[in-house]
Amino acid sequence: MNLSHQLEEREALTLPSPGLDTVLIAEDDPIFRHLLESWLQRWKYRVVAVDNGLDAWKVLQQDNSPQMAILDWMMPGMDGIEVCRRIRGNERGRYRYVVLLTAKDDKHDVVAGLDAGADDYLTKPFAVEELRARIRAGKRVLELQEALLHAHQALQFEAEHDPLTSLWNRGAIFKVMEKEAQRSRRNGKSLGIVMADLDHFKEINDSYGHLVGDAILKETGSRLAAAVRSYDWVGRYGGEEFLIIVPGCDAAGLSASAERLRQAVGDHPFKSSVGPLSVTLSLGAVIAGAGKMEMPDCEALLRAADEALYIAKAKGRNRIESAGLLVAQP
Ligand SMILES: [Mg+2]
Repeated sequence: MNLSHQLEEREALTLPSPGLDTVLIAEDDPIFRHLLESWLQRWKYRVVAVDNGLDAWKVLQQDNSPQMAILDWMMPGMDGIEVCRRIRGNERGRYRYVVLLTAKDDKHDVVAGLDAGADDYLTKPFAVEELRARIRAGKRVLELQEALLHAHQALQFEAEHDPLTSLWNRGAIFKVMEKEAQRSRRNGKSLGIVMADLDHFKEINDSYGHLVGDAILKETGSRLAAAVRSYDWVGRYGGEEFLIIVPGCDAAGLSASAERLRQAVGDHPFKSSVGPLSVTLSLGAVIAGAGKMEMPDCEALLRAADEALYIAKAKGRNRIESAGLLVAQP
């Protein structure tokens, strides 16, 4: 996944859920249903209204469906309790807040409703202000859980990404590599690994300071991420070292990918606070798992890519060395 996808993913986390201001009303009594609808609309909620439990369940299974549901207990097709049970049995990600409506003369046990997963209940007839207060309380619960969800997702993002470049961090890119290696073992397709290292990076830090060095790293991250295919993976492996996972490519494809990465860094000077700086990248590429060959373990792949990178450095930098196809491991 390249950087723009990763950033889109992070931005998506901060968007409010579209289902938060919408309320589902499931009520078979047409007069009462219209009444509920007009109250909620007056309170600035969007409303989806249905007259039976089956339709309620259909609505709730759609993407971005309402997160709050007001369900009448007695309805044709499927009663409110069953809808409630299904909601709790199929909860994926976001929580839904359910208010159950009972009629005064129904001999229903409210405890049974709450046991089925309802958050609250109202006995008809009820005062409009009571409904309003209950809906408000429900919305507070949903907003709180939304905030928790965002916090959790933000932590998840931070745990897997390098804070400077927003690329996958060392731990995460290593996990990706293991997953892709397993996938290659399964489907028999090859896996390319590129280890890339900025040339003479220490001199940039020593001459211009760490702020300039950090800016170069950040820009390198963006350029690398923009130079790969959407299903390749770019991670910051160490200080000025990057690991790129290139699934399902042949040797020629991997060479072309590595060359694009080399050009992305070396072909245009970097803008910096001390003026334009020319930076180059050395790369070690390795491909494994093609044809009948067995996929070596990730340690062996990394070692081979590292050795190829070392040769690229020794041969004068700003170049790609390939370890070629690895032989099958015993
Ligand atoms: Mg009813």
